[in-house]
Amino acid sequence: MKTDWRLTNQKEYLFGKTLLKGSFKVYREGWEHEHCAFCSERIDSSTTMAYSTEDHYHWICEDCFNDFKKMFEWVVVPLEKI
Ligand SMILES: [Zn+2]
Repeated sequence: MKTDWRLTNQKEYLFGKTLLKGSFKVYREGWEHEHCAFCSERIDSSTTMAYSTEDHYHWICEDCFNDFKKMFEWVVVPLEKI
């Protein structure tokens, strides 16, 4: 399989993680936007659907989530359920 340009070392910190699914919120003061861990697309308050790790440190846009979900075996939890 050809390596996707978006893949670097994400498997080291994102493989098998639980991801929270929902719109972007400011979780840390001064961090009013984030970037997708794969394609670097901007994720901010206008983003209605994105995925983040439970500590909100890593964010993944919807396109990359769909492209890589099989490879990374993520467990998805909707934000409204926590
Ligand atoms: Zn992306």
